[in-house]
Amino acid sequence: MSERTGLHPSNILSEDIDRASDRDARSMNIAVGRAVADVVKTTLGPRGRDKMLADQGGGLAVTNDGETVLSMMDIEHPAGKIVADVASTQKAEVSDGTTTAVILTGSLLKESERLLDDGIHSTTIERGYHQAIDRVRELLPEIAIDITADSGILQEVAATAMTGKNVDVARDHLSSLVVEAVRTVDQRDGDDIVVESVGSGTPKESELLEGVLIEEERIHDHMPYNIDDPTVLVYGSDLTFDDAQSDPAIDITDPGQFETIIEEEERQFRDMADEVSEADVVLVDGNVDDMVMHFLAEEGVLAFDQVDKEDQRAIVRATDAWVVSDLDELSDSDLGHARSVERRIFGDDEYVAFASDTDPGEVTLLLRSGTEHVGKEMEIAVTDAVDAVEIALEEGAVLPGGGASEIELARQLRSDADAIDGREQLAVEAFANALETIPRTLARTAGRDPIDILTELRTHHAEGAIATGLDATTGDVAEMTARGVVEPLRVKNAAIDSAVDATVTIVRIDDMIAASNFNEPNTDILS
Ligand code: ADP
Ligand code: MG
Repeated sequence: MSERTGLHPSNILSEDIDRASDRDARSMNIAVGRAVADVVKTTLGPRGRDKMLADQGGGLAVTNDGETVLSMMDIEHPAGKIVADVASTQKAEVSDGTTTAVILTGSLLKESERLLDDGIHSTTIERGYHQAIDRVRELLPEIAIDITADSGILQEVAATAMTGKNVDVARDHLSSLVVEAVRTVDQRDGDDIVVESVGSGTPKESELLEGVLIEEERIHDHMPYNIDDPTVLVYGSDLTFDDAQSDPAIDITDPGQFETIIEEEERQFRDMADEVSEADVVLVDGNVDDMVMHFLAEEGVLAFDQVDKEDQRAIVRATDAWVVSDLDELSDSDLGHARSVERRIFGDDEYVAFASDTDPGEVTLLLRSGTEHVGKEMEIAVTDAVDAVEIALEEGAVLPGGGASEIELARQLRSDADAIDGREQLAVEAFANALETIPRTLARTAGRDPIDILTELRTHHAEGAIATGLDATTGDVAEMTARGVVEPLRVKNAAIDSAVDATVTIVRIDDMIAASNFNEPNTDILS
């Protein structure tokens, strides 16, 4: 049972929407939205707890990631979906900050309900929230700490983003890999860093590969496995002849002719292998004829068949190869080049690592873990960290975490609010309250009394210590920069934007219902 709304999470899974017509539609929507937000609340921060999700087929998943929880829940209620979408939008935009965004939505909904109950119109609330956002945009750069590209803070950004994601044992190791990866591809599109987990080993054995890894086995036992400086051919077709080509309909009258045909066929396959063996490594989209395999092995070529399209694309990027579909038109410039190819074995699976020598190259963060589910959590944590470091590098500044920024924003918004005319002032204050839900929730997960912590934090901030937050790992109030708890501005901005959008959408829904009621015109709309 949710402590706040009195709604059991199962209520938001079933579609009791009809009941909304009996009750006030808007308060039902707000209650559902808040109940969804409450589900992920306890996962926030380093001391956030895991959620176990069970599907009907008996499958289980354990996760600490707010977005994963909500995307796996079967939410049917439209208002619940709006809140769950906040997490997926946040994930798509900046990866990290999904739980924060959802918790903010829940608390903005709660604040909005209070304002609505006090007779404040939803459009006034909306205007007030947007004024608050505008002010947040001005304030965040003032709270931020400038960083440089070679700053050690980048590693702290990575570590903060990986917080609470079950990777604690290897957090230092992983965050230095993440920073190294980002520096290698420096400010290029995030796509250049591939995050890949394999189901064997321990997180500390994770490594950075300058290049890409594909899951493939060579097609012939006599092929070499490790080659330095290879040229690479990506062939987008089959290395076979269809029957019509290889078996011309010759009328065999003389037994000697039979031999000739076989010789002819062999010659054709050998020609094919000869052409292909311009390259040291060949990746074939389709099938390779047994005889061609044999000739290629003889020539010392390493070949793979049935290479899936995604792997082909990765190799094309990593080696600067072109996909060739017609052997007659094959030229040297179509071939890619790698620093080396090397066979890698993880558990029962065989992989090939292509060390890239394009500059700046493709890099792979190869994550190791004993189980698939730890691997999944690691992938999420590391992806969040990669994006956070890239964003921090781009922005050249970071915010103190652990609730410090939220406390500071709330403090300044409250002091500005007095100067705002009209009822929007109340909405700006409500917005400040909502922001404080973040430090409040962090305190609760860390086993500290939220009121004590909030009071203590406010005192520090009033005295000008704007980077003071709650270190949730130790449970004490401290300078967040000294504890290495720092995060990008854009993650915070995105969370606030999507939380306000979702809240306003839900709060407005009642207006639409009221507007369609012709017997009782909505005076606010007419005025
Ligand atoms: P989200 O999905 O919103 O990223 P997380 O579970 O990753 O949720 O928690 C992020 C929050 O945890 C941020 O407010 C961040 O500042 C805070 N945080 C991270 N590390 C610490 C720490 N050591 N102490 C206190 N807060 C922390
Ligand atoms: Mg996070």
